[in-house]
Amino acid sequence: MVEPHICAEQAHWHLNLQHFGDTNIKYLEVTGACQACGRKVFFRGPAGLNPGGPTVAMDGSEAIFPFLFEDETYDGKAVGYAVSVRGGN
Ligand SMILES: [Zn+2]
Repeated sequence: MVEPHICAEQAHWHLNLQHFGDTNIKYLEVTGACQACGRKVFFRGPAGLNPGGPTVAMDGSEAIFPFLFEDETYDGKAVGYAVSVRGGN
């Protein structure tokens, strides 16, 4: 039996660093789940992988943030893809 709790306050966040392709862009992947009951966090946003901005995994289980360090400029083409999901509010 799980004690009453607020999942958002019990969430544990996991950060994973990824580097896809032959560009210098790096991606920080964020996943989260409640430590008390195990419910996973599902992120909202455009699904896919885009060096131009944050996206989420196809199932929403990861938020993916492309980044560079302050002295770096993006050296790649617009690789990856993003699926824009519009609708709702
Ligand atoms: Zn919970």
